[in-house]
This record gives sequence, structure tokens and C-alpha cells, in this order.
Amino acid sequence: MKYRYETHMHTAECSRCARASAEEQLRYYADRGFSGVCITDHFLTGNTTVPAELSWKRRVELFCVGWEKAREAGDKLGVNVFFAWEHADQGKGTDFLTYGLSKEWLLDNEGLDRMSITAYLDFVRREGAFVAHAHPFREDFYIPYLQLMPRQVDAVEIINACRKDFENERAAEYARNYGLAVLAGSDNHSAGKQQRLCGIETDTPIRTDADFLQVLRSGSYKIFDTRTEISI
Ligand SMILES: [Zn+2]
Ligand SMILES: [Zn+2]
Repeated sequence: MKYRYETHMHTAECSRCARASAEEQLRYYADRGFSGVCITDHFLTGNTTVPAELSWKRRVELFCVGWEKAREAGDKLGVNVFFAWEHADQGKGTDFLTYGLSKEWLLDNEGLDRMSITAYLDFVRREGAFVAHAHPFREDFYIPYLQLMPRQVDAVEIINACRKDFENERAAEYARNYGLAVLAGSDNHSAGKQQRLCGIETDTPIRTDADFLQVLRSGSYKIFDTRTEISI
């Protein structure tokens, strides 16, 4: 038996570009046989629904609503829900999936959204985060140039279900050249409107955020892509 986990997805509660609620997302992943999902809403530095003028505490609380609703839905559906976020280098289109830190940790670290991207990466990793560069070769009208920080990330998302094969292939080369761990994720913003799903597959179930982090760190997983159904 294999257990499947989403590593990269959004909720409409917290990500302005998402079209599906946390509950709709969870129902879809339950239908597709996933054992768990990691909610990675756009952080306060990205395309967030959270108003900028509120206090840090209030902003973090609002930022966590999607994950909290996902957890409630997951409890009913038997899908484990983990917490992470997608941090953006504002205006550059460079995004980092940040796993392994908690809501409480965020509450204690006011000003995280104002750090330079290099200071951010050093800081969160020192605090115990596992960081993956999401779709590092994504090109789009709002992305002025590509930036890579190979010494400041733990992993590279080498299959992003929403990106072109060309971009994913370049990401895979990048990870290989620098000996970085590899991840796959769906970047799902719209539940069932997205058919292609990617993620990680394990031999034993992952139940807690600490276990999820441990699996990422130890590399005891395979990545999968429902488009090809090849796991590597
Ligand atoms: Zn988005
Ligand atoms: Zn994303």
C-alpha cells in the first residue's frame, strides 16, 4: 500500500488566486484517494486575501484560516492536513515553500514579511524549516527575471502540475546539478478543475506535521505525477 500526499495547494480563504474553498479542496483530494495534503497558501508577501493594515497577530490568524478549515474538513474525511506556506520575493515571482514551522512560530516572528529573501531563507532554515524552491523556472509576464539560491534551499520542485514540461525539465536539471532534494506538487488552486495531480508517495502513513517534516528531511518518499503515473 502506498500513501499519497499533496505538497503544494491553495485555499480560496487565504490565496486570492484560488477558486476552491478548503472544504472543496479536501473533498476532491479524498475522492482522489490521497491520505493527506499540505496547505501552502500564499504568505503575507504574496497573493493573499489578508489585509496589510492589520496587526501581525490578526494577519497571522487570518492567514491560517484556510489551513484550519482544511483540517476540520480533513478530520471528517480521514485526510491528514499539514501546515506550510508559500513565501514570495515580492514582485519577483520567486516562491519558496516553507515546511515544518507552525502557526505559533509565525505569531512569534513578527516582521518575517519585511525581510529580504536571502535573510528570510537563512532565518527560517536556521529555525528548522525545510524549504523548497517552487517552480524555479516559471516564466510569465509578471516575472522580471529568474533567480536561483542553490545554497539556501533544501529542495527543488521539479514537477509542478501547472507548469510546462520545459520549465519542469530545467528544474530537474537544476536540482541534479546542485545535489538538491526533489519534490513534486500540484499547485492546485481549483479542486476538481485540475485533473493532473502531483505529490509524494510513502510506504507508511504520515500523521503529524513533525512526521511530514521528517519524511521530507530524510527523503523517504517517491514523487508521483498522475499524468504519467510513473513514480521516481
Ligand atoms: Zn496562487
Ligand atoms: Zn503555489
